[in-house]
Amino acid sequence: MHDLIIVGGGLAGLALAERMARDGADIVLLEARDRLGGRVLAHQTAAGRYDLGPAWIWPGMQPRLRALVAQAGLTVYPQDEAGGLVFEDASGTIQRFARGFGQEPPSLRIVGGISALIDHLAGRLAADRVRLETPVTGLQLQHDHVRVITESGALAARRVALAMPPRLAAALVFAPPLPPETDAALRQVPTWMAGQAKALVIYRAGFWREAGLSGAAMSQIGPLGEIHDASLPGAGEAALFGFFAWPPALRAARQATLADAVRSQLGRLFGPAALAPDAIVIRDWADDRWTSTALDQVALREHPSYQAMDLPPGWGDRVWLAGSESAADFGGYLEGALAAAANLAGAVSINREFS
Ligand SMILES: Cc1cc2nc3c(=O)[nH]c(=O)nc-3n(C[C@H](O)[C@H](O)[C@H](O)COP(=O)(O)OP(=O)(O)OC[C@H]3O[C@@H](n4cnc5c(N)ncnc54)[C@H](O)[C@@H]3O)c2cc1C
Repeated sequence: MHDLIIVGGGLAGLALAERMARDGADIVLLEARDRLGGRVLAHQTAAGRYDLGPAWIWPGMQPRLRALVAQAGLTVYPQDEAGGLVFEDASGTIQRFARGFGQEPPSLRIVGGISALIDHLAGRLAADRVRLETPVTGLQLQHDHVRVITESGALAARRVALAMPPRLAAALVFAPPLPPETDAALRQVPTWMAGQAKALVIYRAGFWREAGLSGAAMSQIGPLGEIHDASLPGAGEAALFGFFAWPPALRAARQATLADAVRSQLGRLFGPAALAPDAIVIRDWADDRWTSTALDQVALREHPSYQAMDLPPGWGDRVWLAGSESAADFGGYLEGALAAAANLAGAVSINREFS
């Protein structure tokens, strides 16, 4: 019988696992995918790692991320915004502005990518604490423990932390079942960026800089709605990345020609040199079942406000929600993932009980 089973090996689950293992708890982390990181994912080239999920942090106002970056000995650098901005309106007319809007507060990136945080935490966990390719399908509440059902068998623990979006938690089979209002409340919580997709486009050189452009662009017709420089410091290549403006259904319908549509849009915005990239990588999070559900197929217009959620009496004594969307502080963001993990670890060590 384990003290704690953590379901989900994203930033929240890993931060919780690392902290609880350090405190001497008998924990095991179960992850559905064949890799750790969840929404944190990188595309690797000889030049380094490009973020296909989160790329930006704001350590000035995110104390847990600031501490983790320092603990991991990582270096941060500002998002490159020097130069002009390109704007494409709904009629396809393109305007070039001498200056961009500038992100406020400025976004910072991590040398080695956000994945460097995942590597750091995973490196502090003994290998036998982590089981990849182990999707959890259900939870059975017993009088003094929880049986965690996976596709390959069952495990038992005194407590369970669901370090995943609430909508994915609602997809588990709870025995006894959750009350309908709890199930509905879990499904109502949108998963931040779950309906999004990113395109990464790698070039031999940053030709847009020679034209006085920063690589930033906004478009009202897409396929990409917002584009930024994604180049790695000191790399012998350059890159742009963009968030799609086209919704998941349109992306799915045009999947076969999506990369071509991205390339020709970049050609319109940045000129003919943009038509000859070395590589185009598209990561669509909306069609990834370990991030996105049917309810996430509609793009969010603004960042939702998140709050801590408890399961009802009975379940709530033994099973906790611990993903970023369960944090009141920076919920939905990387900092929220660390906040959710820290809140739970704090509550457990205050209680000092796993019985
Ligand atoms: C394109 C994109 C851009 C983003 N940009 C930023 C940004 O710039 N800055 C920022 O702060 N945040 C950003 N975010 C949000 C950030 O990625 C999340 O806040 C953070 O990664 C959430 O971590 P988490 O551990 O809570 O959840 P997740 O990373 O979603 O981890 C949940 C884990 O649970 C696993 N899992 C799910 N179901 C099961 C199951 N049944 N059994 C076992 N395992 C399961 C999943 O495989 C996953 O590994 C972005 C997200 C995306 C997709």
